[in-house]
Amino acid sequence: MGCQMNVYDSYRIAAMLKPMGYSETSSWENADLIILNTCTIRQKAEQKAFSFLGRLGKLKKKNSNLIVAVGGCVAQQEKEQILDRMPVVDLVFGTHALSRLCEHVYHLETCDDRIVDVTMSESVHEPDIPVDVSKPGDVKAFVTIMQGCDNFCTYCVVPYVRGREISRQPDKIIEEIKMLANSNIREITLLGQNVNSYGIKQKLCSFAELIHRVNDIEDIVRIRFTTSHPKDLSDELIDAFGQCHKLCHHIHLPVQAGSDRVLKRMNRKYSRDEYIRKVNRLKAVCPDIAITSDIIVGFPGETKQDFIQTLDLIEKVGYDSLYAFKYSDRPNVPATRFSNKVSEPEKSERLKQLLTLQEKLTLKKHKDMVGTTEQILVEGLSKKQASDSHKQYHWTGRTSTNKAVNFSFPIHHKDNGAPLTGRLVNVKIIKAFSHSLWGKPVDIESERMSSKGDNYHAA
Ligand code: SF4
Repeated sequence: MGCQMNVYDSYRIAAMLKPMGYSETSSWENADLIILNTCTIRQKAEQKAFSFLGRLGKLKKKNSNLIVAVGGCVAQQEKEQILDRMPVVDLVFGTHALSRLCEHVYHLETCDDRIVDVTMSESVHEPDIPVDVSKPGDVKAFVTIMQGCDNFCTYCVVPYVRGREISRQPDKIIEEIKMLANSNIREITLLGQNVNSYGIKQKLCSFAELIHRVNDIEDIVRIRFTTSHPKDLSDELIDAFGQCHKLCHHIHLPVQAGSDRVLKRMNRKYSRDEYIRKVNRLKAVCPDIAITSDIIVGFPGETKQDFIQTLDLIEKVGYDSLYAFKYSDRPNVPATRFSNKVSEPEKSERLKQLLTLQEKLTLKKHKDMVGTTEQILVEGLSKKQASDSHKQYHWTGRTSTNKAVNFSFPIHHKDNGAPLTGRLVNVKIIKAFSHSLWGKPVDIESERMSSKGDNYHAA
């Protein structure tokens, strides 16, 4: 559940358990071990975790050896209370306990104990050999470059459940990316709560310097990163969009609100004007850059006037898309104690208004792309396969600006879609939809030998 950090951690968990003989299964009934990697960013996410655990009682009755483990941010936040609330749970492991997960599982295989490990550490655990999180057929991968956050936005639980900001050593990150490139990964997303402040506290290289180093790695053709905090978006990093040809022309730059009064109460440490100035500089350096963002509506004390400023900022920036949420109280964060809470119906109304506006902006951006030719990295066959009499199949991939593009192209055999997956294809955009584009392939990168000398994706 939750963010890309959790997705990355779940990949790591699966890779770490493999040497212990654990393999993934999609059937709950056959599982010997069930791990729930949780999110607590909003009330709803936390409730989803507990209702999921509630449904495991039946399985445990059928298989008393079944081990149930809870990880992620709810585990870190609720700790041993999860054992009291959920008798089905055997292990609670916090956001800094991943490296000890295998030893706990090994212990529980033979002992009828219940374990809580939520110890936080001052350093990032680096395995001797980087864990290869990629799977056969993958063309892109996440790589975490840091953990935790020191910003303490007044609505956010992350600093309390992920701890203080710690950056990984740049050499370790480069080593992991080179290993992934050897496993035919071509696109890397650098992950962190606030990647823009990478390395500052520990006086390592800057984030822009790290991007330049990744840009020099052969076989990697695309670099993305998330999430950025506007206050740490440096000129050096903005210039990297003009200097690193593998850096994709997309930035996720959460603004959260459009009114300085609300930004102050959120402790975001930048003003509306500063944000707009940085956006304009980004557009000057990289004119076709796609900008996406996060916005919270109904923050305590947000007036109608404040909200109008948010709508106005959305139009000014012209976002490509937005993740927008209604404010919800979270345990232990200052905003929960703020007065002037906005009513639920009012929050829903504001969210609806905001999403309606953004849908119009996104569709216009997509329509403006009709007739252009975009280079996409093919990720595989589209989920929606239309059986086509000419044995044409639907493929999917993304532009550098992170737009989803689908197109049709014949393949010889359907088993794993090998021919196009992982290749760069120039596609002429002929149709625009709300959330994707349809195109016609005009030029396909020839099959190439990866630096390891094998055919691309001959998995
Ligand atoms: S920067 Fe992001 S992760 Fe950090 S406290 Fe603020 S919202 Fe949370």
